[in-house]
Order: sequence, then C-alpha cells, then structure tokens
Amino acid sequence: MRVLYLDNNATTPVLPAVWEAMRPFVSDVFGNPASAHQAGRRARQALEDARECTAALLGAHPDEVVFTSGATEANNLALLGLAGDPPAHLVASPIEHPSVVEPLRHLAAHGFLVDWLPVDGQGVVPIEALSRLLRPETRLVAVMLANHETGAVQLVRDLVECSAGRAFHCDAVQATGKLPVCFHDLGVSTLTLSAHKFHGPKGIGALLVRRGVKLQAQVHGGHQQRGRRPGTEPVPLAVGLATALELALREREARQEKVLQLRQRFLEWLRAEAAPVALNGPETGGVPHTIDVSFPGCRAEALLMSLDLAGVCCSTGSACSSGSLLPSPVLQAMGVPDELLHSALRFSLSPLLSEDEVDEAARRVVAVVERLRRHGEE
Ligand code: PLP
Repeated sequence: MRVLYLDNNATTPVLPAVWEAMRPFVSDVFGNPASAHQAGRRARQALEDARECTAALLGAHPDEVVFTSGATEANNLALLGLAGDPPAHLVASPIEHPSVVEPLRHLAAHGFLVDWLPVDGQGVVPIEALSRLLRPETRLVAVMLANHETGAVQLVRDLVECSAGRAFHCDAVQATGKLPVCFHDLGVSTLTLSAHKFHGPKGIGALLVRRGVKLQAQVHGGHQQRGRRPGTEPVPLAVGLATALELALREREARQEKVLQLRQRFLEWLRAEAAPVALNGPETGGVPHTIDVSFPGCRAEALLMSLDLAGVCCSTGSACSSGSLLPSPVLQAMGVPDELLHSALRFSLSPLLSEDEVDEAARRVVAVVERLRRHGEE
C-alpha cells in the first residue's frame, strides 16, 4: 500500500536539487570554516555565501544571520538571550510551539513574570489584547508568524508597533518559504526559521538578530558567529538551508497555488463525505498547507492509529502522556469545544503531493471516520 504523507508541518523531504548543492561540502570541501588554510577558506566561503543568500532572501543583513541546530535552539537562544536578568515582565501568545512556551516557563520559574495573550476563535491575537497587557517593565514580547496547527497568521507588524520599542521575538518556522517574509519590514528583534520545514536538511535553522539588539549567548566556548552561537558551523547544512530557501521563494507562488488547490479538494471531499467536520482555524487567509479538522464522534487517538494502518501520515497537535493524548493547547486557547478538541487531526500538505494522492488520502480518511463512527473505538 502506498504511504501518503500529509504531515509536512512536522518535516519535509530534502529536494534532490538541495542535496546536490550540499553534496560537495560533505566530502570534497570538508575544511573547518575557522581554519586559516585553503581548505578552511573554501569552507568559509561557502558558509558566508549561504549566510549572504539567506539574509538577502529574508530582507536581513548577513551579519544578522546566526545559524543554529534548528528552530528549537533558535527560539531558546532568542528568549533566554533577550530576557536578560530578572525581574522583568514578558508577554507571549498561548499558541506558540513548545520550543517557545517551555523556555518561557523556565524563565517564569526563575524570577520573570510571564503573561499569556488571549487569541480569538480563529487563533489570532487581537492587537488591543497586547496593549492591555503591556507594562512599563515589559521587556519582551513573543508572537509567532504562522501557527503550526491551524496555519493562522498573526498581525506581527502591528503587534511590533504596539510593543513600542520593546524586544520582540517571532517564530516564523511555519511561514518561511511559504509567505513573503521580510525581516526588516516586520520590525522584530529576532526571528526563527528551520530548514527541514521547507525541503531543506534537518539539523539546521537560523535566528535572525537585528543589528544593535543585545542577545546573551547561551552556549560558551568559541568565537564562531561572533560568539553568539559558538561551535564549528555545519557548512553542508548551511548550504542546504540557503538552497532550499532560494528554491522555495523562487517557486513560492506556483507552490502556493498548487497547495491551495489541493487544500480545497481535500476539504471539499471531507465535507461532502465525512460530515460533520469542523475546520479549526481560518478558512482562508492562513498558510494553506495546514488543515486542522475535527471529526465529531471519533477520538483523535483512534483516528491517528487507524489512519497510520491505512497508510496516511498525519498528526494531532496534542502531547502524549502515558499513552493517551492531552488536548492541543493551541485549540484550547482558541476556545474549541470539547467534542471537537478530542477529535482533531492536523493534515499538512506539500506541493510535492499530486491531486490523485490527496484524493486517495481523503478516501482513506472518509473510510476510517465512517468505520469509527459506526463501530465506536474498536
Ligand atoms: N516552531 C514551530 C512553529 C514549529 O512548527 C517547530 C517544529 O515543528 C519548531 C518551532 C521546532 O523546529 P525544529 O524541529 O527545527 O527544532
């Protein structure tokens, strides 16, 4: 049975062109970019080219790009590095990825006061809510650009304006390569991206850090990346990140168009054949790759397991605790009612999927939902 992969918000396959670009730097050009000899200089050139390319594609200066091992590290570096010393007041949205929520909880346990913003039914932070929470001692605001579970896009530029010069961190992992992202236009202090979400390799991401922003390093022991993230830079991965980003942005409109069509097809099929279904998140205007739907009458755990057996890879936004799923904090913050909360699945699309594959996935989902509704959770 053909496996249908609809979990592209979790990760994506590396495109052949990306792997081809990386390959010479895995074997032939293997020098340490910190070495002064010619092998090192060649590696350094490739690294700095990748940095320049990444910066240019995202509207940043090359010296504002800090390569990290991925978005989890970049988010930790931003939040812990911007927070400074306690006491201080921090504000964040409650729909952030755990790699933002957990460092903030860590800060809350170490003398910081953290306030969580409300979101509306579509998962969007109202600007007025931020102005209500800000205090003179607020040092940092963190709101993501596109949500990993619903695709909802936040009004980051307006939120930055409302923050009136305070440090602002934006996790743009699910937006990079899919929406036009211009670091300087957004006006944020720091911004996170991760290569494996846009058909680049796993193990590399970046934190963009605006010139003049004070960021405390979280790792010590080297001068690399101006001391902000010491450690030998992974040249092949940096080349992979830059190449994947360039491809994603060059083909952005065509990819977006294709994914929009796939989304409509998939949703229409589910609404016609598996009713009732409820879409969690915006119908339009979000990142179209992300489709979070609830199937009342089914449990998410049972759906996930049966779909896996039926060869469909998707996910829930829920954390697993001793074998049972806790409801998604993102959907909870949006006020999604219990019945929908416990029957929600996330399907995430990629332009690599064909219409036939999406139709087949929808057919399998309908069959599983029908069976579970008819027989309960076997
Ligand atoms: N932020 C968001 C919004 C994500 O969706 C993810 C991954 O799912 C991450 C951060 C963490 O990314 P990484 O796997 O690069 O650590």
